[in-house]
Amino acid sequence: MKTCKRCLIEKNITEFGNNKNEKDGKSIYCSNCELIRGREYREKNKDKVNQSAKKWREDNPEKYKETINRYIEKNPHMSSKERSKRYRLDDDYRKKISEKRKEYYQNNIEKGKNANYITIVIEKLKERRTMIGERKN
Ligand SMILES: [Zn+2]
Repeated sequence: MKTCKRCLIEKNITEFGNNKNEKDGKSIYCSNCELIRGREYREKNKDKVNQSAKKWREDNPEKYKETINRYIEKNPHMSSKERSKRYRLDDDYRKKISEKRKEYYQNNIEKGKNANYITIVIEKLKERRTMIGERKN
């Protein structure tokens, strides 16, 4: 058992994440508190985190790609909320998705499948855009 330094609750050692810098090799905070801490840190230091993440991405484009791919592989059911959030925030992800989409549609058009469906979708999108445009005027 180990007492978390943050919530001060005594928990099983398996509830603590690994930390090489600690004597016992375990974090002084329980996993739950680490999660909260991480979230709070990110909230408080949004710009800093974004910048360092951006810098890391630029310095390690290959590793970044790998990380993303691994993440997507591991989280195929990532919620649409998460996905749309990422879609908004992450330029590379956005590019990747739109490329994938293009690829998918092109493949399907070539196969002659879904061609009608895509035409319908494009028409619908055009309609919606016109409607939005009209509403603005
Ligand atoms: Zn805790």
